Amino acid sequence: MKTLFGIPVSPGIAIGKAFVQAAEGFRIPEQTISAGAYKAELQRFHHAVAEAKDEIIVNRESTKTALGQTFADIFEVQLQLLIEPKLLGEMEELIRSCYFSAEHAITVVMQKHMDTFRQIENSYIAEKSNDLRDIEKRLLRLLLGAKRETLGQLSSPVILAATNLTPSETANLDKRFIQAVVTEFGGAGGHTAILAAALEIPCIVGAGEFLNAVDGGDTLIVDANTGCIVVRPNEETVEKYKQIKGAESSRIIDLDVYRNLPAVTRDGTPISICANIEFPYEADSAMQRGADGIGLFRTEFLYLTRSDDPSEEEHFAAYKHVAETMQGKPVIIRTFDFGDDKTADRFTSAAERNPALGMRGVRLALKRWSLFRCQLRAILRASIFGDLRIMFPLISTVKEFRQAKRTALAEAMDELRERNVAFNEKIPVGMMVEVPSAVVMIDKFAKDADFFSIGTNDLTQYTMAVDRGNSNVNHLFHPDDPAVLRMIRRTVLVSKHFKRPVSLCGQMGASLYNVVTLLGLGLRTISCAPHNMMQIKRICREVSMDECQAIARQTLRMSNVKDIQDYVKNSLLKNAPALFIQPE
Ligand code: PEP
Ligand code: MG
Repeated sequence: MKTLFGIPVSPGIAIGKAFVQAAEGFRIPEQTISAGAYKAELQRFHHAVAEAKDEIIVNRESTKTALGQTFADIFEVQLQLLIEPKLLGEMEELIRSCYFSAEHAITVVMQKHMDTFRQIENSYIAEKSNDLRDIEKRLLRLLLGAKRETLGQLSSPVILAATNLTPSETANLDKRFIQAVVTEFGGAGGHTAILAAALEIPCIVGAGEFLNAVDGGDTLIVDANTGCIVVRPNEETVEKYKQIKGAESSRIIDLDVYRNLPAVTRDGTPISICANIEFPYEADSAMQRGADGIGLFRTEFLYLTRSDDPSEEEHFAAYKHVAETMQGKPVIIRTFDFGDDKTADRFTSAAERNPALGMRGVRLALKRWSLFRCQLRAILRASIFGDLRIMFPLISTVKEFRQAKRTALAEAMDELRERNVAFNEKIPVGMMVEVPSAVVMIDKFAKDADFFSIGTNDLTQYTMAVDRGNSNVNHLFHPDDPAVLRMIRRTVLVSKHFKRPVSLCGQMGASLYNVVTLLGLGLRTISCAPHNMMQIKRICREVSMDECQAIARQTLRMSNVKDIQDYVKNSLLKNAPALFIQPE
């Protein structure tokens, strides 16, 4: 039994069998065989080596024909390394004397020699570590290839343990079979985390390197409420977690009472709780949970779950469905925001050294003019079926906002007029406030934008210069950092001064402690994932606006995030102790 910890990003508890997806798609098990099985294992090993040799020779010959001897020599080097008796001898010895599986023996020996090569200053020799990695991958593929399962072929429930997952891989997870997800890398603000929460799959990211200690089929416990992962738990631990899981299910049922209750503070201030959605079908669960509207429809996932682009009709059908489902309640549709971690090859350039600061959000939309207008036309067409609003992502200059609104949107409107298609001519057009320059210039934006929505995920990333999806710097990623709180305060004050509606749609709005500070800072509309809505309503009903304002005032005087967190927690314990008692 082994216990490790990561960053919990989508709540829930799961107990199940591991499905391991390591960096190169191979499972690298720390596996031994029985003493009697070593001869058969040696045979498997020799067979894989012979096949690898044949493959390398084929590559060498075809490269020689296509590119000449110099390039073919790359494969000659690999061939010599593969048949190097010392290397093979070490692997054989581990199989014969330590009863290592062939895969495990290969990984251990290759890793050792790669490390040695890397430490040599001569770059020609250091380069050889890449050749060894190539050979290792080839051998593992040959040994595991036939029995390697793919995510698409799952037929029974598993816990996915992966090096990392891209947002599009996460968006394509089959909820019927994925009980939980654990990754070695990734941070709290990344889109993989956001999507796992949207899919309501318990998820822990950034657990550190652990996959070589897990074999496919091992039992795992994933407690995504606390971030704890137990590998190969003993019976007692399994029992304990079964009980915790049972108690959690009844807590979720108890929160159900908040579905139909309004979010009004103890002293009568009404708060709007809206839903963030990534897929059109989530509008139904937002309505069932009593959402006051859709505060953010992230439309990227309409594109990322497929290899081609959706047509205007497909966009239209998605937006019309959400508009009709929400029955006249406001729906903010954000135009596509590709880039950073939300990537697909067709939208981003591999040459960008720093994608978060590169061609993403509205910058890309203004470059991909026809794709952008296609989406805008579809939103406009759907606008007669409900209260739709358009929002542009990652706005950093007033000029950009004007280009998007006065040029792209205006052209899309003209195109529809030419086609005699009806739409809401007065559709509100707003922007995400998620780049520090937008906060600084918010008074200027207020002349053009009809509304603002604060995106604390990116606002934290860009204010603190900390990659929201990187577990190495997760200790710096705090939306309640005093610097971010001051950004929020300014945005709210200036928006109110110019009578522009302002809401908040970053993950921060789903956190028990942060919500009170946000209310105190003046926010009256919060948008969060549908499954967080009832918990947030509960908080709003337990606190008074006076308390929230006092908390916010005090936090703005502080200079250290840890002090802020301790202070808010203690104030809540004092003022709203009921929040800390789990409903029976
Ligand atoms: C944000 O940045 O806070 C936000 C809501 O947008 P996204 O997470 O999609 O970047
Ligand atoms: Mg953002």
